[in-house]
Amino acid sequence: MVATPAWPPKSAPRLFVPGPLDDGAQVALEGGQAHYLGKVMRAQPGDAVILCDDLTGEWLAEVSAAGKRDVTLGVVRRLREREAVPDFWLCAALIKKDRFDLVLEKATELGVAAIRPVLTRRCVADKLNPERARTIVTEAAEQCARTALPALAEPVKLDALLREWPEGRRLFFADEEGGQPAAAAFAAHAGPAALLVGPEGGFDDAERAAVRAHPAAVAITLGPRILRAETAAISAVALWMGTRGDWG
Ligand code: SAH
Repeated sequence: MVATPAWPPKSAPRLFVPGPLDDGAQVALEGGQAHYLGKVMRAQPGDAVILCDDLTGEWLAEVSAAGKRDVTLGVVRRLREREAVPDFWLCAALIKKDRFDLVLEKATELGVAAIRPVLTRRCVADKLNPERARTIVTEAAEQCARTALPALAEPVKLDALLREWPEGRRLFFADEEGGQPAAAAFAAHAGPAALLVGPEGGFDDAERAAVRAHPAAVAITLGPRILRAETAAISAVALWMGTRGDWG
């Protein structure tokens, strides 16, 4: 007996599109997404495509028409509900563009609920292109089969972040000058949490004092070595996902 091939195939392209998606909906793609499907993936009518909208989960769709500049898809059925996202934010000081891009990509893959870029006194970079950041996050989510995108906030100054900190959310402060061992600190706290990581040059003394004085803050150490900001962010998010997130 010939085995029925899995449908949709594992190799089916995945795309985030504006929602809400529904059974039978028609989705018209243009621009980069149409180019990707039509030219790069050489999609033909009948080919399977996985669509997500960050609202209603993940859907099987089929190409109904593939032109030079636009591709039309018909939504067939829902494959998965939108996933439950662990309630963990990454508050990362802005760092040089290529390194912050890496943080955006990896934090998305690791499954954070939100990414909040933070401006501190020693930040070399002070701007983030929101469209570019959204593209990086979306492509990372497509690649790793997330059905939810992390919320991407505008850059916020550290003092405003602290002032407006929501009640009940623990703020783990990655402090290269020391703190509680991160794994134990994460394990000891159930509930909403966030990680604050500094820029290339770290926090200055006044900032460190202000963060440490905040009632939600717990200073943590990521070990005896001074990590680059992106390494600190990525490794601490991974550690939180392994202790409190959804790696179980
Ligand atoms: N002050 C630094 C380097 C800062 S490292 C210097 O000597 O130039 C960038 C950021 O990564 C820090 O602000 C901190 O948030 C985090 N970080 C790096 N190593 C860390 C460690 N061992 N423990 C906790 N946080 C660390």
